[in-house]
Amino acid sequence: MDTIRRGEPLSVALERAGLAPQEAAEALSVASALDPRKVRAGTTITTKVDPDSGASEVVLQLAIDRVVRFTRAFGKPWVEQEQTLQWTTDTVVVGGVVTSTLTAAIAGGAEAFPERQRTELAYALADILEYRIDLSRDLQKNDSVRVMVERRTAENGLVRPGNIIAARMTVDGKPVETMRFTQSGRVAYFDGEGKSMRAAFLRAPLAFRRISSVFGMRRHPILGTMRRHAGTDYAAASGTPVRALGNGRVIFAGWRGGYGKTVEIRHTNGFVTRYGHLRAYNVRSGQPVSISQTIGQVGSTGLSTAPHLHFEVLVNGVHRDPRVALRNQSGEPLAASQRRAFEQLKTRLFAQLDQSSQRLVGRTAAAKPNGD
Ligand SMILES: [Zn+2]
Repeated sequence: MDTIRRGEPLSVALERAGLAPQEAAEALSVASALDPRKVRAGTTITTKVDPDSGASEVVLQLAIDRVVRFTRAFGKPWVEQEQTLQWTTDTVVVGGVVTSTLTAAIAGGAEAFPERQRTELAYALADILEYRIDLSRDLQKNDSVRVMVERRTAENGLVRPGNIIAARMTVDGKPVETMRFTQSGRVAYFDGEGKSMRAAFLRAPLAFRRISSVFGMRRHPILGTMRRHAGTDYAAASGTPVRALGNGRVIFAGWRGGYGKTVEIRHTNGFVTRYGHLRAYNVRSGQPVSISQTIGQVGSTGLSTAPHLHFEVLVNGVHRDPRVALRNQSGEPLAASQRRAFEQLKTRLFAQLDQSSQRLVGRTAAAKPNGD
């Protein structure tokens, strides 16, 4: 198996995969289901030659549910065939105790997902929890995670995680539950008490997907030259977008001594957030900003030895640990009319989550892989 490289013509990829130039050209001349000039980088190619019959086969996985197959019997012309893969969805429980990273913990003895998909699952979980928990920092050794998640399997054996249905974790030793619930036709995630997982503040100013080597247990990724340090440092590549933690108004955007290029935002309830060492910012003082809006980029301006974001939360002018300050800013509770249905579903889901150890807990009908 091989993948098409960036900017590489399909014919070159086919030759690298073992076809003679003439053969590759002939195969592509019958292509109608695909435009050879528009096949994306990263597309996988599988080639096979039967040593006995001399038959050749080239398979391109164009999309998660779409395959184009070129076959040729010895001495015959190439034939192209397009195939839509059927996916089936079942539900699995994965997880374990955190010894190194969340991705590794999700491996937890299960063979449910290949490694890349486990990383995707870790990100998906972090996205659900991003108003509550900073999974890039808060996770500690011996924390635990159990996730009930849809598993989508294609006819050709490809596996992908689908929706997360429920999760029970301990983070920094404290229990956290979340589950998917449909309220008046809208799907959302709630905690075990029926409060929305969304809230007035994100827990981290960087999108986890933008931080490399995330979900480890790095307490101090950068302990640079700044001493008497009242904030949280996030190691990230220069240029990584920095997000406003919540709705508010910019009260400072400029150079602030050792902090270098800095943005400060005033939110409700006396909260101010500060973002330092920025390479650049794209807001100005007085400007309103909304939660998750990009306000600048990670850099190394001011007293800093390597690119990182210095982040602070102040409440009524006093530095506060974001883990503590933001803890009680949880989301809206469910409507009272939904409460009963929520409790019933919760009882059922968490009973399944606790009982099954990596076992299949259900099977549903065939579904498209990229549903909701
Ligand atoms: Zn710092």
